[in-house]
Amino acid sequence: MKNNKFNKNKIKYFIYYAIAVAIIIFMVNDYIQNVKSEHIKYSEFIKYLNQNKIQEVQITRDKLVIQPKLAEGEKKKIMYTEPLPDQDLIKRLNDANVKYSGIPQQNSMIKNFIVTWVFPLMIFMFLGKILFSKLDKKMGGGVMSFGKNTAKIYAENETGVTFKDVAGQDEAKESLLEIVDFLHKPERFTKIGAKLPKGALLVGPPGTGKTLLAKAVAGEANVPFFSISGSSFVEMFVGMGASRVRDLFEQAQQKAPCIVFIDEIDAIGKSRDSSMGNNDEREQTLNQLLAEMDGFDSSKGVVMLAATNRPEVLDKALLRPGRFDRRVIVDRPDLKGREKILEVHAKGVTMSSKVDLNAIAKGTPGAVGSDLANIINESALRAVKNGREEVIQEDLEDAVEVVIAGKEKKDRIMSADEKKQVAFHEVGHALVAALLPNTDPVHKITIVPRTMGALGYTMQLPTEEKYLVNKKEMLDKITVMLGGRSAEEIKFNSISTGASNDIERATQTARSMVTIYGMTEKFDMMALESIQNKYLDGRPVQNCSQETSTMIDEETLKLIKKCHGKAISILDENKDLLNKIANRLLEKETLMGNEFMAMVKGEDIEIDEDCSKEEISKKEDICEKDFKEEKEFDNKEENSIGEAENNEEKNNLDKK
Ligand code: ADP
Repeated sequence: MKNNKFNKNKIKYFIYYAIAVAIIIFMVNDYIQNVKSEHIKYSEFIKYLNQNKIQEVQITRDKLVIQPKLAEGEKKKIMYTEPLPDQDLIKRLNDANVKYSGIPQQNSMIKNFIVTWVFPLMIFMFLGKILFSKLDKKMGGGVMSFGKNTAKIYAENETGVTFKDVAGQDEAKESLLEIVDFLHKPERFTKIGAKLPKGALLVGPPGTGKTLLAKAVAGEANVPFFSISGSSFVEMFVGMGASRVRDLFEQAQQKAPCIVFIDEIDAIGKSRDSSMGNNDEREQTLNQLLAEMDGFDSSKGVVMLAATNRPEVLDKALLRPGRFDRRVIVDRPDLKGREKILEVHAKGVTMSSKVDLNAIAKGTPGAVGSDLANIINESALRAVKNGREEVIQEDLEDAVEVVIAGKEKKDRIMSADEKKQVAFHEVGHALVAALLPNTDPVHKITIVPRTMGALGYTMQLPTEEKYLVNKKEMLDKITVMLGGRSAEEIKFNSISTGASNDIERATQTARSMVTIYGMTEKFDMMALESIQNKYLDGRPVQNCSQETSTMIDEETLKLIKKCHGKAISILDENKDLLNKIANRLLEKETLMGNEFMAMVKGEDIEIDEDCSKEEISKKEDICEKDFKEEKEFDNKEENSIGEAENNEEKNNLDKK
């Protein structure tokens, strides 16, 4: 961003540069002059003339330029002397038979000046310009302004984004509409004596459209948009961040009315007393920000917007009236919101008329705007890859999986044993889900590995958007999570590392039942943990004594054991079904929900066509044989088969 001050500085430094260049040219010219020609006295000149040692003389008003006769092999030499009022000079030259000539005075001076001054100056100026513009770019706009704002401030005169581009955030848009109104007609507010809003804080998980909303406010109000990331204020050197804040406000006020957007404000706005060990730089920067916010005159029309996904760590001073006193929640979109976001992004892509975006929205609970934008883009890429000119439903469904679980990794070669273990594991999840009453229906089971680490997964989709989960549902959810490992135990009597993610999620759910949701008799409705950063899926922090903590562990373990036992008994009772479906999955690698349910209900007529009973029993024989081998192996080393899983749960996926 350039401002007047910066331009003035630039001119100043350019003048310094020009003076330095002039001195250099002068010295160089002088040196060349001295090296090129040797000064002699007039008497010496006469002497050389008499000795017949001179070849040619050029006569100007202030100089006689003498070219002596050269001996063989001698280099060309020039001498000069100042002319004296010598009446006989021409006669002497004639007598010595020396060629002589004059140079037109005016011409020679101009030529000389051009060659020795104008030309070099022009070259240096040109080089200087290139140098300055390069430095300019490198230093982010403030060349030579050391210590000034070198942080990246993005400035857009027109964002081109309006509220229409932001879908599914109606409440947030409504709150921000007031700011737009104010920027349009500030006098309407000032006339009545209303204090104008200085800033609003956009709070929500990453990717929900906070930056987009801020841009849309600028777009709707038709004012310039400045954006800077909070983290770029914090520098190594104390005082640097504060100077950047000053600079930012200076620039913003020059461009008023405008929107200044600070992303990740928590990087500078962290509570000053909460940090372990003082951070002077951050504190100074924050103080400067507070001072500037108090100082600027809001009637000029500078509105500050800031975004964060950790509102709980912000310094209270930042949230006081007159600062970021408005809090706009930009939360994960609900079903309707997701569908609208998909629609907004689908506008720019050629879609088949049969595409059902509602179904995709239903299949993506928990997804944020950026995930959904990504899904549309992935689907378009897939359509092109498959040589189609429009996106079809299948592209979208595949894209959902790519975004949630990563791309298919067909080149990963799993051994037959591993594949079998994964198949039984996944069917274990699916079967427990199908046979328990309070669970979401199974949408898909697959054992095609994905790039994000899953060797296979079971996808369950809720039939409707849920805002409350009851105790029975939570217990059944844990049982489903533990179903994978339970199936491995039943089938192979051995356990692998593949269940680590299930175990972690099951434990977390069970623990939250005990500590957060008051779902155990022992602790009744006592809050034992609190969630720190709600928008970042943060881990809960315990607030109880050491003894209670031990009891929490016991209660959690009780729940886990209960659910594990239940999963084992369900699968044990349905061992045949488990075998049948797992073998089918091994063969097909992916089973869709309806096919799976048909098998569970025993309505799978077409299955017998593909996979005869003999084949199934043959496969089962092989499994039994493998199982025996594995048992031996298991005695040597437990927990060694499969891949340790550390993926974050993003959806209703039971991954192995
Ligand atoms: P945040 O600032 O909350 O992390 P962004 O505003 O940077 O999120 O969102 C990233 C991208 O996701 C946007 O550029 C946009 O393409 C898409 N997106 C997010 N939320 C929405 C929404 N509500 N409507 C339309 N697109 C959205």
